[in-house]
Amino acid sequence: MLDRFNRNITYLRISVTDRCNLRCVYCMPAEGIELMDHQDILSFDEIVEVCKTAVSLGVNKVRLTGGEPLVRKGIVELVRMIANIDGIRDLSLTTNGILLSKYADELKKAGLMRINISLDTLDPDEYSRITRGGDIKKVIQGIVAAQKAGLYPVKLNAVVFDKNDEATRESLQMFAKDMNLELRFITQMSLETGEFSVVEGGTGGDCKHCNRIRLTPDGYIKPCLFSNIGYNVRKLGAKEAILKAVENKPKVGVTCSNGNFYNIGG
Ligand code: SAM
Ligand code: SF4
Repeated sequence: MLDRFNRNITYLRISVTDRCNLRCVYCMPAEGIELMDHQDILSFDEIVEVCKTAVSLGVNKVRLTGGEPLVRKGIVELVRMIANIDGIRDLSLTTNGILLSKYADELKKAGLMRINISLDTLDPDEYSRITRGGDIKKVIQGIVAAQKAGLYPVKLNAVVFDKNDEATRESLQMFAKDMNLELRFITQMSLETGEFSVVEGGTGGDCKHCNRIRLTPDGYIKPCLFSNIGYNVRKLGAKEAILKAVENKPKVGVTCSNGNFYNIGG
């Protein structure tokens, strides 16, 4: 699918839930969020239908995200259903890693190919502060389990707060090297004010070469993280919603005031 600016749209990112078992300071308020109505959340069959339609239109890469994808009940089954769609060459998932040691093996067996784990620091207290209570030991166990299960590559996503925090960066770099992990730094962004940046060592944030569309848990296809535009797959049907999103994909992202990282997926 070519958009108006000749970008070939091949990548669908699916936020499978707005729920999360952490409350990262840059993502969610301490008191949590107003959750989407249960009946608005797409069923697995609906998500798979969107995927199949997207693949028939040229998508070949799918990532599951959230909220925290591993808190969605039956996530392994969803991975299996998506992995069985002919034409998906790359199926991955982004997680905070807290529940990963429990699921890594099953996810791999269900057809997940690779995984990104979010980890901003190696200091247990700082991790607990950033995530408002998260236990870093579980994330490390999750990383080890992912590698043991054969998910490859395992990538680390680290949000950088202060460009000058070299010590944190260096310790993450050393850890990544020791553990054979690919590390990407993401500068903290704000959807509302439109502060966004290119992901160091990754492909996000580069509008000129953006090949993405996104599906929200409640069924909107969004052409851009930094835009209020969204097309509802229940109202329009998956094909129409996808085509409209691609047709209206903005040249560059500006701002988004009707969504958040936790319900669009980052
Ligand atoms: N819960 C999963 C996780 O944390 O990996 C998946 C969803 S989370 C919204 C996806 C990514 O978005 C994470 O790597 C997270 O660090 C990033 N993220 C969340 N809020 C952000 C912000 N304000 N600026 C930059 N990245 C952000
Ligand atoms: Fe949850 Fe991920 Fe947002 Fe942290 S970044 S609150 S783990 S969705």
